[in-house]
Amino acid sequence: MAERIRVSFEFFPPKTAEMENSLWEAVARLGPLAPNFVSVTYGAGGGTRERTHATVRRILAETPLTPAAHLTCVAATRAEIDAVIHAYQDAGVRHIVALRGDPPGGAGERYAPHPGGYQNAADLVAGIKRIADLEVSVSAYPEKHPDSPSVEADIDMLKAKVDAGATRAMTQFFFENDSYFRYLDRVRARGIDIPIVPGILPVQNFKQTKNFAARCGASVPRWLAERFDGLDEDVATRKLIAAAVAAEQVLDLVARGVTDFHFYTMNRADLVYAICHLLGLRPAPLTSLSHRERVPARSAGG
Ligand SMILES: Cc1cc2nc3c(=O)[nH]c(=O)nc-3n(C[C@H](O)[C@H](O)[C@H](O)COP(=O)(O)OP(=O)(O)OC[C@H]3O[C@@H](n4cnc5c(N)ncnc54)[C@H](O)[C@@H]3O)c2cc1C
Repeated sequence: MAERIRVSFEFFPPKTAEMENSLWEAVARLGPLAPNFVSVTYGAGGGTRERTHATVRRILAETPLTPAAHLTCVAATRAEIDAVIHAYQDAGVRHIVALRGDPPGGAGERYAPHPGGYQNAADLVAGIKRIADLEVSVSAYPEKHPDSPSVEADIDMLKAKVDAGATRAMTQFFFENDSYFRYLDRVRARGIDIPIVPGILPVQNFKQTKNFAARCGASVPRWLAERFDGLDEDVATRKLIAAAVAAEQVLDLVARGVTDFHFYTMNRADLVYAICHLLGLRPAPLTSLSHRERVPARSAGG
């Protein structure tokens, strides 16, 4: 099984020294599983943005892993975003996850593009491609993005992102695999043929997952709530249930032909590591990991 399974891991930039330790422990544990890439999310404020850049730079400097830097259109002019893209290119980043992003006040507020900024994710993908031939991944929503009037409108946006140059989409997390396959059928029927990689969220904390799901439009099935019922104070059992739930989900996806997975790690390795083990992945000594291609920085002329 392991030969054909490919994984990527998503991390968020840490805010405190303690969170910094958890992140690098998770990177050290998961890195030897030789992920296709590791991605680092991007926040709305200047401080969190700098933390994203610093995290990406450290991955490049201290690990053999290939980073993918998330980038959003929120609260920034085109020139500011273009400067970030140039800086990533200069630092040796070759993969960007291009997103519209949530309004600065958070999901639920009405989104208004910055007057001098990129209008949406497709516009950002085109902007990145105008600057450099970087690999660009984007988001996809099997259960529809909350701002979108319909799944069809969502798929129109995905098509626009692909037409602008995106070559992979990672999905929002979901718990009902049928919803992913129904979405995939509609995406393929629309003529979109890039990989639509399922985003897997191991349920580290059910209450938190329910809150995330409410904000991003993912549904939490009753059977999932029932499995975690009564375990709010019982961390050890919760973890076992979480591993069982995620194992069931990914093994069903594999049985139905899925070979690539994007894990929302929440900067914690244990559940993700266990699920990858079930998928047949085994740690390789760091020296035998394929080192990413070191491409010279862009010339002064861009
Ligand atoms: C894999 C993944 C990674 C993510 N990483 C980050 C991250 O690092 N940082 C972060 O802040 N967020 C992140 N997000 C969340 C994402 O930014 C939000 O979901 C955001 O609200 C939409 O951005 P998008 O690029 O996913 O949406 P898009 O693909 O641009 O849009 C999604 C849908 O919303 C519709 N839509 C968009 N704008 C409007 C509008 N103004 N009116 C009506 N409909 C509209 C589109 O037509 C489309 O159907 C991530 C999401 C995923 C799935």
